[in-house]
Amino acid sequence: MSDLRQTIIDSLSSYSTDDSGLLETIQGLVEKEGEEVYPTLLNVLTHLEFDAHDAKVNWDRVLAHRNLLETKLDRHVKLITAVCDYFCEISQTLRTPTMIELKVLEETKKHSRSDGLTGLFNRRFFDEALEGEMNRAQRYNGSYSLIFFDLDNFKSFNDTYGHQAGDLTLQEVAKILILEKRTEDLACRYGGEELVLILPETQKINALVIAERIRQTVEKMKLEFDGQSFSVTLSGGVASYPVDAKDVKSLIHAADVALYQAKESGRNRIFLHAQDKRHYIRIDFAGDVQVNKIDQKSGQIQVQGKNFSSSGLLLESLVAMEIGTQVSVEITDPGLDKPITVKAQVARVEKFDSHYDIGVSFLEINDTDGSEIAQALANSLGIPINQITNKY
Ligand code: GH3
Ligand code: MG
Ligand code: MG
Repeated sequence: MSDLRQTIIDSLSSYSTDDSGLLETIQGLVEKEGEEVYPTLLNVLTHLEFDAHDAKVNWDRVLAHRNLLETKLDRHVKLITAVCDYFCEISQTLRTPTMIELKVLEETKKHSRSDGLTGLFNRRFFDEALEGEMNRAQRYNGSYSLIFFDLDNFKSFNDTYGHQAGDLTLQEVAKILILEKRTEDLACRYGGEELVLILPETQKINALVIAERIRQTVEKMKLEFDGQSFSVTLSGGVASYPVDAKDVKSLIHAADVALYQAKESGRNRIFLHAQDKRHYIRIDFAGDVQVNKIDQKSGQIQVQGKNFSSSGLLLESLVAMEIGTQVSVEITDPGLDKPITVKAQVARVEKFDSHYDIGVSFLEINDTDGSEIAQALANSLGIPINQITNKY
C-alpha cells in the first residue's frame, strides 16, 4: 500500500471521534504531496475513482455540503456523514453503499487471496503457497514444478487494441489456465501480465505438457472487443524442485531464466530450465528409432533419430504425435550391439514442409533424470561419457 494511502487511513482513524484536526492534516498533506491527495482520500472513503481535478472539485463540494448540513441541523456534522450524504443524495454516484469499519476493510483486503481482474490467486497468496509447497516437498522428499507465463508483446498489444481489450485478454487467458490446470494446481497472477502455475507432485515433463497445452489453447483463442478481432500468444518457463533449485527464491529465478530464454528464442514457446545447457550437450545421432505408443498396441511409428541429450531425443517423423503421449522408444543403430528401449513422453511437435520434428523427453525413473539413459546410449555408441554428464 502507498505511504500516502496509509497516512490518510491513519489520520481518519485518529480523528474518528473529533474530526476538527482532520482538515488541517489533509491540507498539510496537500502541501507536501500535491493534489494527488484528493483522489486517494476520496478512494479511501468511497472506493470511487477520480482524477486529481475531479477529486478536488468533489472534495470542495463535500465541505460546502457539510456547512449546509450543519446550518440546517444546527449541530456539528462529521465529515464522513457529509461524504456519505453528498455522494448518495447530491452527486448520486453512490447508490447502495455498504458500511464497514475502515480498519476491518483494510484488514480484509490485506488477507484477500484473489486478484480482482482475473480472479486468479494474487501475488501475496502465491508467495505463501509456494513457501508451503516447498516445505511440504522438502519434508516428504517430493517434487513439484513451477510454470511462469508472460503474454507476448503485450505493451504493443495494449497500444494497438487499447487497455480494455488488454484487460479482457488477461481475463480470458486466466480462464484458460483455470480450465487446463488440474484441480490441485494453483493458478496465480504474479504481476501485470505474468501468470504462474504451481504444480504440486509434478515432475518437469508433466509440467511441460500442461504448459504446452495452455500455450496452444491461448494461441488458438480468437477474441473480440469493440468491433476488433485479435489473438494473443504467451511464452512460458518451467522449473522444478528439486532438479533445478532447492529453495523458493532460486526456483522462481530458474523459471524466470527459462521464460527469458523462451522470449529470446522468438516467443510463443515453452522452455524448460537449463535448456540452454542442453544444446551443447546435444549429440547428433541418426539411428533408426521405433516409437511404440504405450497402452495402444497399434500405435507403432518408424522414425529417424536426429540428436539426443541428457533429457531426451529429437526425432524426425512423417506423422505427427500428440503432445503428452507416453511412448516406449526402441533405438537401433549400427553402433549399438543391441537395441536400447526407453520410456519417454512426447514434449514438443514442430511441423515442417515434409516432416515433423518430435521431441521426446525421457521419463524420469526412480526420480533420476534421463541422463543415465543418455549415458548408456552414449556408451554404446562409443561417445565419451563426459560429453553428456553436465547434469542440470
Ligand atoms: P514481452 O513479449 O517481452 O513480454 O513484451 P511485453 O510488451 O509484454 O513486455 P513488457 O513487460 O515490457 O510489458 C508488459 C505490458 O503489459 C505493459 C503493460 O502495459 C501491460 N500490462 C500489465 N498489466 C496489465 C493489465 O492489468 N492490463 C493491461 N491491459 N495491460 C497490462
Ligand atoms: Mg512481463
Ligand atoms: Mg510480456
